[in-house]
Amino acid sequence: MKAEVDETKCGTVGLCVKICPEVFRFHPGSKKAYAMLPEVPPHLQAKCIEAAEKCPNDAIIIRY
Ligand code: SF4
Repeated sequence: MKAEVDETKCGTVGLCVKICPEVFRFHPGSKKAYAMLPEVPPHLQAKCIEAAEKCPNDAIIIRY
């Protein structure tokens, strides 16, 4: 499973960073999130999917 943030949609809310900090971080000096681990390990996938579902801007793309 892969996770990606569409930075044109990301609006700094930061829920993904709170829900799954192992995968999502803010760019330094910016309030746009990115996925540090493009390949999400199995034990983080549920949290990553939860972050994608809760992102208010639908900015997280999950691919299988
Ligand atoms: S929850 Fe969505 S809008 Fe908020 S920082 Fe994460 S990707 Fe961006």
